[in-house]
Amino acid sequence: KVRVRFAPSPTGPLHIGGVRTALFNYLFAKKHGGDFLLRIEDTDQNRFVEGAETYIIEALNWLQIPYDEGPRKEGNYGPYRQSERKNIYKEYADTLINSGNAYYAFDTPEELDAHRKDHEANGKTFIYNWHNRLKLKNSLTFSAEETQQKIANGDEFVIRFKSPEDETLYLNDLIRGGMQVETNVLDDKVLFKSDGMPTYHLANIVDDHLMKITHVIRGEEWLPSLALHVLLYRAFGWNAPQFAHLPLILKPTGNGKLSKRDGDKMGFPVFPLEWKTAEGDLFSGYREGGYLPEAVVNMLAFLGWNPGTEQEIFNLNELVSAFELERVHKAGAKFDPEKTKWFQHQYLQMVDDSVLANEFEKYLNKVSLQSNALSQPSTETLIKIVSLLKERATFVSDLWEQGSFFFVAPTTYDAKASDKAFKPETPGILKQVITILDTTDDFSATNLSESVKGWITSENIGFGKVMMPLRLALVGEMKGPEVFDIISILGKKESISRIEKAIN
Ligand code: GLU
Repeated sequence: KVRVRFAPSPTGPLHIGGVRTALFNYLFAKKHGGDFLLRIEDTDQNRFVEGAETYIIEALNWLQIPYDEGPRKEGNYGPYRQSERKNIYKEYADTLINSGNAYYAFDTPEELDAHRKDHEANGKTFIYNWHNRLKLKNSLTFSAEETQQKIANGDEFVIRFKSPEDETLYLNDLIRGGMQVETNVLDDKVLFKSDGMPTYHLANIVDDHLMKITHVIRGEEWLPSLALHVLLYRAFGWNAPQFAHLPLILKPTGNGKLSKRDGDKMGFPVFPLEWKTAEGDLFSGYREGGYLPEAVVNMLAFLGWNPGTEQEIFNLNELVSAFELERVHKAGAKFDPEKTKWFQHQYLQMVDDSVLANEFEKYLNKVSLQSNALSQPSTETLIKIVSLLKERATFVSDLWEQGSFFFVAPTTYDAKASDKAFKPETPGILKQVITILDTTDDFSATNLSESVKGWITSENIGFGKVMMPLRLALVGEMKGPEVFDIISILGKKESISRIEKAIN
């Protein structure tokens, strides 16, 4: 059975790169009828950030990509927070020591630094590898007794992986294909620290094995660790899962990786939810920005993947059936905030008018609280207003931008437009419109249109001379839906009063 995991470290809010990783794992799992796990990798206590786990879970919930097992949703392979699995890892580090695949090392940071500088002075990079390790302070230079003695004395130690010498590794990635790595360029990475905590590398491999993970789908930044991970599986004598490294997400300009700060610098969110740092910095979020989760998911799916057809709109279920890891590309994916808005616009159009009216009402209530001067239309009218405006709206707030005149009469008139529209004969013309409205009972847009247009034609006045000033009187600007739709919604009394105000 396919089992995949999303394994974030709770070092802050999840930016869209992380969310994209979660989404691709989810899509792959569901496509193959498998399980999607959430594992919190919190072994690095120095980088732990309060509230990050809650943020991650809330973000996945908002986007409606639920996990099958994880913290707050226990399954058979828990616990799912590495800090709660602490006592598991030492035993595995010991196994590697006993099999000769790992060793204790006692170098102090100062000593390592000195080696680094030494190498640099000779134009080389210091690698803690087979070549160098015999010159360093580690159990390969101490006898077994000395090593035990040092540990008993309380000397600081780490446990390092012993990378093999002179070997060419053949690695495979489902997205990138085959790769070769020479083991001699590998560092002997730290697996376990003297504070009793494993490092990412050890905990990650042990947990993936114990949790029966079949496919590791993660960001490209982990590709350099692949060789070590494959070697670790081999050292344990375990079958390695298959690997897929997702392409980087690039800035909209294409130069460089999209960073956490880019969004707010360039005026678009790069986080699913808003996040306030302990220092009080605020990062804006898609949720708070008025985006629909479905639009964000659809946008994320196209960051590095495409279906190979022209179709762009996919709901989550459609993504599940269309998704294929083989169609994920290697090249970095440019993040496109305009495209994100385009998706949002498309999804807003699909929202049921009554649902949208309900959201709009909530928005109006907020506006009302601030200005206190809105008329209160019925639900039925709100639905009509929403259906007229939504074509021009990307966010619920745009409904207000586009249609505030439905709720407040204009107090000023767009200057340029009134110069064009208000002529000496305009008051006389609009007075006749008032008479027509006053004597009309059927205020449907069709009937209003027929009566007024019939009169315009029979009097041979010219449509512009009537419709332009009429729109200005009702709206204040040359915008909005059909004039007769507007009159129909405003009603007789309000429409007449606005026209009177405009000609007086
Ligand atoms: N904890 C790692 C991260 O924060 C997980 C990497 C992996 O999936 O192996 O991305």
